[in-house]
Amino acid sequence: MTIGKNISTLRKRAMLALADIADRVGVNKETVKAWEADESTPTLEQLLKLKDVFDISLDRLVTGEEPKRTTYNTESLDTICASLCYAFGIEPPKTAADKNPQLADYIDKIFDGGKADRVVMYNPDAIGQWVMQKYPGYVRQAKRHADIEIPLATVMPSVTPVCFATMYTGAQPEIHGIKQYEKPVVKIETLFDALIKAGKKPAIITYANCSLSKIFKERNMDYYYFDDDDGAIEQVNALAAELILKDQYDFLLIYNENFDSAMHKNGPENARTLAELRVNAHAFSVISNLIEKHWKHHNTLVGFAMDHGCHEIDGECGSHGLYMPEDINILHLYKGYKREEN
Ligand SMILES: [Zn+2]
Repeated sequence: MTIGKNISTLRKRAMLALADIADRVGVNKETVKAWEADESTPTLEQLLKLKDVFDISLDRLVTGEEPKRTTYNTESLDTICASLCYAFGIEPPKTAADKNPQLADYIDKIFDGGKADRVVMYNPDAIGQWVMQKYPGYVRQAKRHADIEIPLATVMPSVTPVCFATMYTGAQPEIHGIKQYEKPVVKIETLFDALIKAGKKPAIITYANCSLSKIFKERNMDYYYFDDDDGAIEQVNALAAELILKDQYDFLLIYNENFDSAMHKNGPENARTLAELRVNAHAFSVISNLIEKHWKHHNTLVGFAMDHGCHEIDGECGSHGLYMPEDINILHLYKGYKREEN
């Protein structure tokens, strides 16, 4: 790879125009075009600006080498349940792991020591941390609505029912009981039980046959299920918007499996899969905008929170479920909206 090819690849993954790069580096568009065509080379000073634009190391900009994914995030996904309880100021389930320090500190800061009276979790499926880092342009709309990014390690096996059961019980698989790809009803105390006990109203909006529609059943709460077809994501997101406007629930879980489906079929880096990544980022941004505009009288915490990552197999389809950084490392995004005083 030449420097020009690297710049071109990085620019497209960041979904930036030639003019965007030109503006930020302080040159004209034609100069960037010439770099990408390897007709000229950026100066050292310009390379230093380019590496900041793409948020990568100088070494990677010049060599084009992808970072090796060999390390595992240290904080576990099991810290999220107690963190959400902490946001509400309610007692977490007895079997939940301790709250996440980064998220708890943020909650204290954003609500000035107060508590949230609304939490909305947007749950996409299978978006690995490496995908978000490699294709920043496709998640920009979500990141724009986030104040903090929390690197987490999911649990094993890294499949949907196991990981969501951990996210919403705060317990490891051997405790919540789902240890493989199966969808029994979780019997131990969940976030939903903790909310109901505290007099809060939770609801789940999801697809009829997905893991989330099965494993959290049998609670005294509202479930909204849509048939698993091509239009399900629109229906899920439309209902989420409607329920935010109606403002009847304290906690909303919104789940979409579109990225996971496309990833299994086409591989994580296929254009169709990346298009679904954008759809999720866009849906999160619409939901965040609605909350910002219509819930000015609430303290609201909003999360973009996936269950596990994914990796490519056979060059053209994707998978997950293994103990490898691609599947284990995820990156949750959160933002709090503080009540406006009047
Ligand atoms: Zn999943």
